Amino acid sequence: MKIAFLGLGNMGGPMALNLHRAGHDLTGYDLSPVACKRLAAEGLRIAASTLEAVAGAEVVISMLPASQHVEDLYLGNGGPGLLESLSAGTLVIDSSTIASATSIKVAKAAAPRKIAIIDAPVSGGTGGAVAGTLTFMVGGAQADFERARPLLEKMGANIFHAGPAGAGQAANICNNMLLGVLMIGTSEALALGVANGLDPKVLSEIMRRSSGGNWALEKYNPLPGVMDKVPSSNGYAGGFGTDLMLKDLGLAQENAIATRTPTLLGGLARNVFAAHSLAGNGALDFSSVIQPLLRAKK
Ligand code: NAD
Repeated sequence: MKIAFLGLGNMGGPMALNLHRAGHDLTGYDLSPVACKRLAAEGLRIAASTLEAVAGAEVVISMLPASQHVEDLYLGNGGPGLLESLSAGTLVIDSSTIASATSIKVAKAAAPRKIAIIDAPVSGGTGGAVAGTLTFMVGGAQADFERARPLLEKMGANIFHAGPAGAGQAANICNNMLLGVLMIGTSEALALGVANGLDPKVLSEIMRRSSGGNWALEKYNPLPGVMDKVPSSNGYAGGFGTDLMLKDLGLAQENAIATRTPTLLGGLARNVFAAHSLAGNGALDFSSVIQPLLRAKK
């Protein structure tokens, strides 16, 4: 299968490599020469432009930062968009995390050109991208989902069809809004326990096996030293950045306003992460949100 992969950043780079290593005829392109150079060194064929990358491609995959990048790429920004250069029958898989309204807008523009398009945002972070164990949440027609599935399986371990165009994005923001809220809640409970002199490991284990048990306690404890191989025990490096969480909580709030859905805790979580980012923690893993809740060590 001839594939063009656009956006070779922290996520797109390893995802493209997994497809390449699975034997697909893949050409990559990124606006950043640094990203292109890094992937070329890993053995990926790199095009000199977007149009060169997509020439003759049956499938185009994009992994870009935000809504505006996706809209500019496919619909154009003062010039023709990429949709105008793709032949009928091309399958477009956009894995960027963007507003579901943007995914729907691009899908509507693709339909009259007979270009199949799905939104397929991911969960699982850079570790999942490297290991090929991402979760894909797909929005689009069933037939297009089935066409994409063998490729998604080379990059992910859990592949879900969430519904029509935009549904993948909607499912993703629901999940990440819940994750943001539960990380703050878990951080407060742990900070309260520590302030009461409880051993963080013992308290974490009690809550993990009790009615407060959740994913953060299970796999991503925010207190340094409780778990190995999690960002909190590595100076909050790697993982899922505070600014990425802030972006997703912002998308959730935009959607909540558009659909008139009350999301009180989701809004509060966005504000907590906004303040955390403003305090200089944007690049740290989002579990660092516990730090301002802890007393300074005497
Ligand atoms: P990144 O900034 O590392 O990579 C994005 C790349 O897209 C950049 O290298 C940029 O140069 C390139 N780009 C922008 N416009 C382009 C264009 N028109 N053509 C070609 N390349 C272009 O970001 P990332 O961490 O890889 O994240 C990508 C997406 O995945 C985001 O939407 C993010 O929210 C989502 N996501 C990230 C994570 C994570 O842990 N990093 C986890 C889940 C989802």
